[in-house]
Amino acid sequence: GATIGILGGGQLGRMLAMAAARLGFHVHIYDPDQGCPSAEVAQRTTHATYEDADALRAFAQSVDVVTYEFENIPPAALDLIEAVVPIRPNRRALATSRDRLTEKTFLHELGLGTARFAAVDDEDDLLAALAVIGTPSILKTRTLGYDGKGQARIMSPGETNSAYAQMGGRPAILEGFVSFDREISVIAARGLDGSVAAYDPGENVHEGGILRTTTVPARLSPTMRSDAVLAAARILNALDYVGVLGVEFFVAPQGLLVNEIAPRVHNSGHWTEAGCLVDQFEQHIRAVSGLPLGDGSRHADVVMENLIGDDMDRLPDLLKEGARLHLYGKAETRDGRKMGHVNRLRR
Ligand code: ATP
Ligand code: MG
Ligand code: MG
Repeated sequence: GATIGILGGGQLGRMLAMAAARLGFHVHIYDPDQGCPSAEVAQRTTHATYEDADALRAFAQSVDVVTYEFENIPPAALDLIEAVVPIRPNRRALATSRDRLTEKTFLHELGLGTARFAAVDDEDDLLAALAVIGTPSILKTRTLGYDGKGQARIMSPGETNSAYAQMGGRPAILEGFVSFDREISVIAARGLDGSVAAYDPGENVHEGGILRTTTVPARLSPTMRSDAVLAAARILNALDYVGVLGVEFFVAPQGLLVNEIAPRVHNSGHWTEAGCLVDQFEQHIRAVSGLPLGDGSRHADVVMENLIGDDMDRLPDLLKEGARLHLYGKAETRDGRKMGHVNRLRR
């Protein structure tokens, strides 16, 4: 059978590996971390760094296609892999989404609404950007941020220095603060043949920058619902994308604004396990392996809740409640660490 290579063996890689196994594929995971959650569900795991050219080449030679669970893969590693085997989603999707400035510029040029933004490379840039965008605003590192890390809110001009210090000298982007009514996301897929399938938008609640719950259906007007899905399709087509993509939006008084995109399966798509015949993980494996996309229509109302850190203390109760439980097999519980999730049907 064919073998799928997955860069990154965290929980997303693990769920992809499980879906791939169910479709009869072999899975080879690449992750430097000896204790990564995917190793125990994949046929093969390589624990080596993204600087290890020999390990990367051997990995690429052992698989038929490479996909990934995170967007911050060093470009040199991708060069080595791409010389041997296709990477799906493609390099353009990665290059666009790994840097918030490139990403927002791409979205803006596609004609999609975003928060106002400006590049901030030094303190003078920040003062100039603040003069245009004003406060409140959010300063974010351009790369490597997730779960709200690497972000500083600037509520008043007096907070400028401390916000800048939090960037640690890294290139940043200043965004106008959006006073949104709610946050939603669209998980959508594009196949090798260019066909597109989108899941129903989910409504997301974040706490301290970390996704807490996703609820479907989202509270949205029919127009906004189709605008959100069409925006996702537009992004997929513009990137000539193959695989599953997550698009986060703000529903704001000024309309629908795209917050960010993720070129991979997405935490806010975990509800599809309980709400759809074909979930986001199977959909992604189908897409990257060249199989036809599956039926992603929603057949239930679902609330997905993340189990983060101490939430694990509630495990005995959750097991009694009739929720569908998915744990990632992480050895240690840590503050802010995503340990698993539950899906509940809303009746
Ligand atoms: P993720 O884990 O989703 O990748 P991230 O670290 O990339 O998170 P963002 O999605 O940019 O960060 O921001 C995290 C959250 O912070 C958003 O979901 C939203 O609640 C809030 N936020 C981010 N940017 C803005 C903004 N410009 N205006 C208002 N709120 C914002
Ligand atoms: Mg992000
Ligand atoms: Mg986000």
